[in-house]
Amino acid sequence: MRTAHDVVVIGLGGMGSAAAWSLAARSLAGRSLRVLGLEQFGPAHDRGSSHGGSRIIRHAYFEDPAYVPLVLRAHELWEAVEREAGRRLLWPTGGLMVGRPDGPLVAGSRHSARRWDLPHEILDAREIRARFPVFAPRRDEVGLFEARAGIVAPEAAVTAHLELAAKAGADLRFGCRVLRWEALPGGEGVRVVTSEGDHHAGHAVICPGAWAPDLLANLGVPFTVERQVQFWFSPRGGTSPYTRLPIFIWEDESGERFYGVPPHAGSPDGVKVAFYRRTDVCTADAVDRVVRQDEVDAIARHVESRVPTLPGTFLRATTCLYTNTPDRHFVIATHPDHPQVTVACGFSGHGFKFVPVVAEILTDLVTTGRTPHPIALFDPRRDFRPPP
Ligand SMILES: Cc1cc2nc3c(=O)[nH]c(=O)nc-3n(C[C@H](O)[C@H](O)[C@H](O)COP(=O)(O)OP(=O)(O)OC[C@H]3O[C@@H](n4cnc5c(N)ncnc54)[C@H](O)[C@@H]3O)c2cc1C
Repeated sequence: MRTAHDVVVIGLGGMGSAAAWSLAARSLAGRSLRVLGLEQFGPAHDRGSSHGGSRIIRHAYFEDPAYVPLVLRAHELWEAVEREAGRRLLWPTGGLMVGRPDGPLVAGSRHSARRWDLPHEILDAREIRARFPVFAPRRDEVGLFEARAGIVAPEAAVTAHLELAAKAGADLRFGCRVLRWEALPGGEGVRVVTSEGDHHAGHAVICPGAWAPDLLANLGVPFTVERQVQFWFSPRGGTSPYTRLPIFIWEDESGERFYGVPPHAGSPDGVKVAFYRRTDVCTADAVDRVVRQDEVDAIARHVESRVPTLPGTFLRATTCLYTNTPDRHFVIATHPDHPQVTVACGFSGHGFKFVPVVAEILTDLVTTGRTPHPIALFDPRRDFRPPP
């Protein structure tokens, strides 16, 4: 069977847009790869997981120190994408993780910072108040500060990757929904059935975000899709003290976490806040995109307990989707049953900062069947256990 493309990338959101560029820019056997990208919506849309003006990038990684070498490489690659695209994508604001010293957020961040020798400072409650007067930590709360943490702009990043991919020769199609795919026997590649006709390619890279339960049911990973809300507030007394704030994540005594992102040139209106995961199970196609007043009231009350002037005036809110695995670790691998299919999904609400390194890993897997990056944690056949 004739294959018009070497690789088809299914889903051109955060991961797929970067993979399309990375693959189109990689040459194999003396020629560049012919890449086809398929996306059901438009470029840099707001119906998946990669929108809302900002994403946090931090190096000290409480979820697991195994992510640190990946985020360090991702940071390097983000800077390279900025140079290549001639667009600003990163805002290094610094980052503060606040909570009890023995809570998972602070203790885990500290453990990973020490394990990888990351520059950081531990501030007690008095020092936090002195340095960032809008914060009101409890006496028993401390903060881990890292200067290199900051913001990545998701829509700008997706746009930059799509532009670079197109410039490198990738054929990108929007408004094209993949209905199903089939790995053909005997090394014949992959057949993709879409709303706009069929395609054949030697290899498929599937990055479906919250549509993983539809397109990757055969992986056998028990994904849960969750509706999450991002809120913007204009603080009482104006935004100006907030423009110098670091990004922050705050964990209270019950273990509930919320995070905040200061206004920045890529998203200047108001301070963004959200709970770091609240369970509200949905499906990607049937999610309720209306944000209720009681949700606005709940986040405002919660934020006010630690950042008293922040709730101020509510500006707007938007929903976004998490695609969780039971242990909250990603899935990045060659498909266990189909060597001509590579998958990246289950980013569990913390994937965006890794976008360019995930693209590098996918390109390695497609072109050589392996990668020097440590991805054992992301094996779809692992024994999934809920996080401690
Ligand atoms: C509120 C919120 C806050 C977050 N904050 C952070 C943060 O601060 N830091 C961080 O690192 N991460 C954060 N994340 C997580 C991060 O944004 C995601 O992990 C990441 O965006 C996932 O990218 P993706 O490519 O898997 O999904 P997406 O960007 O959603 O891309 C998947 C794409 O596949 C397309 N697609 C799916 N099915 C089909 C089909 N059948 N046919 C054609 N196209 C299809 C979709 O339309 C979509 O464009 C946050 C997520 C949310 C929702």
